[in-house]
Amino acid sequence: MTKLILIAVAVFVLLWLLRRALAPRKGDAPPPGEAKGDLVSCAHCGVNLPKAEARSAGGRHYCSEEHWRAGPRDG
Ligand SMILES: [Zn+2]
Repeated sequence: MTKLILIAVAVFVLLWLLRRALAPRKGDAPPPGEAKGDLVSCAHCGVNLPKAEARSAGGRHYCSEEHWRAGPRDG
């Protein structure tokens, strides 16, 4: 009898894991609209990065706090 219960639990867990694996994950990836659009380039080194990850100041964008502090290369 215990064996039957163990098998039932195992099947339940397997099905649950399968459903979890097949279901689209939410929270892992950013929304599609945001992920692809809105690339900006760092005013200091010119590297492209998503606007959401960039530091912005005075209408310019920077890839890191270091470059944000350094300011634009041409100014
Ligand atoms: Zn930079």
